[in-house]
Amino acid sequence: MSGAAASDEARVARLRRDFPILAREVSGKPLAYLDNAASTQRPRAVLDAMTAAYERHYANVHRGIHTLAQEADELFEAAREKVRALLSAPSAEQIIFTSGATAAINLAARSFGDRFLNPGDEILLTEMEHHANLVPWQQTAERTGAVIRYVPLTDDGRLDLDAFDRLLGPRTKLVALTAVSNVLGTINPLAEIISRAHAAGAEVLVDGAQSVPHMPCDVQSLGCDLLVFSGHKMLGPTGVGVLYGRRDLLERMPPFLGGGSMIREVRFDGFLPADLPYKFEAGTPPIAEVIGLGAAIDYLGQVGWEWIERRERLLTEAAHRALGRIEGLRIIGPEPRHKGGIVSFAIDRLHPHDAAELLDRQGVAVRAGHHCAMPLHQRLGLSASTRASFYFYNTLEEVERLAEALEKAKAVFRRK
Ligand code: PMP
Repeated sequence: MSGAAASDEARVARLRRDFPILAREVSGKPLAYLDNAASTQRPRAVLDAMTAAYERHYANVHRGIHTLAQEADELFEAAREKVRALLSAPSAEQIIFTSGATAAINLAARSFGDRFLNPGDEILLTEMEHHANLVPWQQTAERTGAVIRYVPLTDDGRLDLDAFDRLLGPRTKLVALTAVSNVLGTINPLAEIISRAHAAGAEVLVDGAQSVPHMPCDVQSLGCDLLVFSGHKMLGPTGVGVLYGRRDLLERMPPFLGGGSMIREVRFDGFLPADLPYKFEAGTPPIAEVIGLGAAIDYLGQVGWEWIERRERLLTEAAHRALGRIEGLRIIGPEPRHKGGIVSFAIDRLHPHDAAELLDRQGVAVRAGHHCAMPLHQRLGLSASTRASFYFYNTLEEVERLAEALEKAKAVFRRK
């Protein structure tokens, strides 16, 4: 190991102490948590921020005059500002809190669809989308008469950009795609796609669930019109997510959920919606969760976004090398230079569920199944796959343990 690599591992060892759960054992072995694409773990700083919010500053936000309500409101709006800064968004009013990426896409699909989509208009998705970026558009298409088209993949799991150009047409109103595939790990060339979509007059929604936690993100230089992500995939709590949008677009989009907080005025014969961002935030928001997300963003900023990105690339390259040595194992997706920290694979004659179970017995947590991407698995000719997914707190030793555990799992199956 080089000096730089050794000092990185030492830094990771120190950072891991911030995550109580990473110290636990599973099946009598140290836990190797390689299921970060599904959900990450939380550092003490996030747990403490949420506990402090409940123990010292808790009241409902937005409506209160009393001290606790004002403190809760300040913490809540400070977290909105942290998200704004994270995304380099022009203003905090363009940051809408939802209960997760799924809720944010549903909001966008319903509201954008109601306002802008007519029968025969086209929505362009890709073959690698998570169900969260498929089903809401299918529902919108059913309601509006819009038509969905899918950008196909190349055999190594990247978007076919020539096909994208052919599919993009005068009727394309929206392109909705993931920044990073939650199965293939593919990092999509967003800037290129967004500029081509804009040239054709279409808006672009980016599903940042697998990118925002792992790499720097600047919505203004990217030029995306809408972007979503979830808190729990970036050290934050469950129950909170974000929709960012271009201001003029959000202003023209109608509210989705109705209720308290999202109105300026209500009469017996109707209502006037509130200004951004509140017009999209009906009801009591996830207050402690938003504050926890703010603490997660602070923590990640201290760890350093460039370092996080580099660290995950290192782990992914190591995983490709280690898994590449296993006979009968096929990695699904492109080479490491085109992907984030996600390595999915199939092993001859070993079902993904059996693989995940045998790995669990060795303390290694991975996910098996279709990973909410059934159409993608159909395209790949697979019913399921096994997925290891990294965060900066994973170690090179854990990557080696994954490979060793897989060799053992294969041996168990050969004996059966
Ligand atoms: N999009 C992608 C690419 C994802 O990986 C996920 C989570 N697996 C989602 C959307 C949905 O996120 P959530 O379940 O947090 O709403």
